[in-house]
Amino acid sequence: MTQLLRGAPVAKQMQEQSAARVAALVQEGITPTLALVRVGNRPDDLSYERGILKRAHEACVQIQTIMLPQDCITQDVLDAVVSINKDPHIHGALLFRPMPHHIDQRAVCAALDPQKDVDGITQDSLYGTFACEPVGFAPCTAEAVIRMLDFYEVVLEGTQVAVVGRSLVVGRPLAALLLARNATPTICHSKTQHLEQVCAHAQVVVVATGHPQSFSAVGTNAKQVVVDVGIHWDEDAQKLVGDVDFANVKPIVAAISPVPGGVGSLTTAVLIDHVVTAAERSIK
Ligand code: NDP
Repeated sequence: MTQLLRGAPVAKQMQEQSAARVAALVQEGITPTLALVRVGNRPDDLSYERGILKRAHEACVQIQTIMLPQDCITQDVLDAVVSINKDPHIHGALLFRPMPHHIDQRAVCAALDPQKDVDGITQDSLYGTFACEPVGFAPCTAEAVIRMLDFYEVVLEGTQVAVVGRSLVVGRPLAALLLARNATPTICHSKTQHLEQVCAHAQVVVVATGHPQSFSAVGTNAKQVVVDVGIHWDEDAQKLVGDVDFANVKPIVAAISPVPGGVGSLTTAVLIDHVVTAAERSIK
């Protein structure tokens, strides 16, 4: 029978582990605090924000939200980031992206203090992720995949992993994190030839293509673990679906993460964990 890799128990374990760390910080007079910077009121941002608020509340992590109007200019967002950098009571910041087109998002991301970059958006964080050094933080979704595989005791060392997707927020950093764990990742993308053959040789397949329910059962087998990073509303906006054709892939493979309730539910847990780590680093 196919094992379902659910995110909830992983998030629960992470929260239990962080509770003791938060208590120790509070003893030192430090309340881990995350700043959220939101430009406008995009429904996706608001939905993500609600998830973060809930998770932060459960973890006793404080949130400060900086809301800017849709028609603000780049300098306004830069000013918000600079004020976060200067504030010793703020340990991490998350900037909702994509920002409106008229905002120079690259300049805004570059302005963030890497020590507060709990979402892994600065060059320093990417360097830290690729060089395996404790500089900044890995992008939360990529790390969530590793946390999930670890929780379910999927062996990574020496394992062939097909990473389907090469974005800077998921595929590429995930491949770096897998390398750090002595796995052998193969990064695939839209121009990869014979994708099904690459996947067939992998013991773990991580799918992050951005196309709902498009990753088919071709190339999957009974020994494989499939992790679905995708998250979309279906055509009728009735239910959330992933990038994997779940109904057809699940009966074939050994284990698969569901959508909803898989990687997506872990991303905010990793974010909060990063805030606690940033607060710990701030006193070292
Ligand atoms: P992007 O659109 O930035 O990247 C998609 C990648 O998939 C690209 O590298 C693209 O290749 C590749 N790709 C597209 N089609 C195919 C195909 N048919 N075969 C092989 N590769 C293909 O998406 P993101 O990385 O930002 O997001 C990926 C998924 O993860 C999305 O479904 C998104 O909703 C989800 N997501 C989930 C998060 C969470 O918290 N759970 C957070 C962030 C994202 P190429 O480079 O050649 O175009």
